Amino acid sequence: MRVDPVPPGDPAVGAPSVIDTRGRAMRDLRISVTDRCTFRCVYCMPKDVYGRDHAFLPRSDVLSFEEITRLARIAVDHGIEKIRLTGGEPLLRKDLPVLVAQLSTLTTPSGQLVDLALTTNGALLAQQAERLRAAGLRRVTVSLDSLDDATFMAMNDVGFPVAKVLHGIDAALEAGLGPVKVNMVVKRGHNDQDIVPMARHFAGTGVILRFIEYMDVGTTNGWRLEHVVPSAEVVARIDAELPLEAVPAQYPAATSTRWRYRDGSGEIGVISSVTQAFCHTCTRVRISTDGKLFTCLFATGGHDLRALIRGGASDEDLADAMSTIWHSRTDRYSEARGAAEPLGAGGHRIEMSYIGG
Ligand code: SAM
Ligand code: SF4
Ligand code: SF4
Repeated sequence: MRVDPVPPGDPAVGAPSVIDTRGRAMRDLRISVTDRCTFRCVYCMPKDVYGRDHAFLPRSDVLSFEEITRLARIAVDHGIEKIRLTGGEPLLRKDLPVLVAQLSTLTTPSGQLVDLALTTNGALLAQQAERLRAAGLRRVTVSLDSLDDATFMAMNDVGFPVAKVLHGIDAALEAGLGPVKVNMVVKRGHNDQDIVPMARHFAGTGVILRFIEYMDVGTTNGWRLEHVVPSAEVVARIDAELPLEAVPAQYPAATSTRWRYRDGSGEIGVISSVTQAFCHTCTRVRISTDGKLFTCLFATGGHDLRALIRGGASDEDLADAMSTIWHSRTDRYSEARGAAEPLGAGGHRIEMSYIGG
C-alpha cells in the first residue's frame, strides 16, 4: 500500500497516512453491522419504503465478524484510529460483543489501542451495556429525538417510548461507557420545540447532547431545506435560556462544534452538515453491511471489498484496494450542496440505514 507523508498539523504524528486528492487522511472508520432496525425513523427508514415486504440483505451477503475484523485490522494498519459500529441498529446484530472483543484489541502502528465506539437507538442498550463494556467497547452514542413520548413515537414511528431509551442511557453510564453522547436529529415542525427541554434535561448529567441538522441522505426521506433547523438557531434558542460559550475544537476533523454552559453544567455539540459543511476536514470512510467501501455519506456507489475477500485477495491486495480508492477520493458533497448542480444529483444515493450514520 502506498503511504503518504503525515500532513502538517495531523494529530497522529508517526502513524502512516493514506491521503486523498484534497489532502485528507483516512482516520475514522464506520462499520455498518446490519441494515435492519426495529425503528422506522421518519428521516431515515420511512415506513412507506421500509414496509413489511422490504427486502433486507440476505445473511450470505452480510460480512462475517472475521471479514469485518480483517478489513478493520488492515485499515488500522494504514491510519485508522477510530472505529464506530453502526447500522441499521447495531445491537440487533447477533453476538455483537464477540465482534467488539475482536476489534477492541486492534492497535495502531504507534501502539495505541483503537478508539472503539458505537451508535445505537438505545432500545436494547439496557440489556447489553455491561456485556459490551466487558468486551472492550469504550463509548456509546445514543440517538434520542425528544423527551416527549408523543413526539418521539411519531419520529421513531413504531411507538417506542422515551423511558426505555433513557433507561439504556443510564445503563451505559453505569457500565462505564461514558462520556455518553446523545444525538438529536432536529426536524422543523416535528421536534424543534424539544431543543431547550432536551438541553435542560441533560445539563449537569455529564451526557453530551448533540444536535444534528437533518440531512438529505439517501432518496427516501422526502428531505426539504425548510425542515432543517440551522445549528446557529439551535445555539441561539438554548443560549437564550441557558447561556453558552464556544469551546475550541478538540481535533481538526471533529464534526461537532462544541459549546459549554456558562454555569459549568456541561457542554453540547452541534453538527452542521447542511449549513456549515465540513468536507474539507472529512477523514471518514465507511464499510457497509455487505462489505462495500464508501468514501462519502452521499456516495452513489461503493467499492466491493467483499468480492475481493471472498475471491481470495491477500491482505496486501485489500490494503492496495483501500489505498487506491482513498487516493482518488474527491468527495465534498455537503460543501457543494447549494451549488447549481449539486454533486450526486440524479444518482441513486445510498441510504443512511445501509451505510451507517
Ligand atoms: N440505529 C442507530 C441510531 O439510530 O443511533 C445507528 C444508525 S443511525 C443511521 C446513525 C445516526 O444517524 C443516528 O444518530 C441518526 O439519528 C442519524 N440520522 C439518520 N438519518 C439522518 C438524517 N437524515 N439526517 C441526520 N441524521 C440522521
Ligand atoms: Fe433505525 Fe437509527 Fe435509522 Fe432510526 S436512525 S431508523 S434507529 S437506523
Ligand atoms: Fe464527508 Fe461526504 Fe459528509 Fe462531506 S458530504 S463531510 S465528504 S461524508
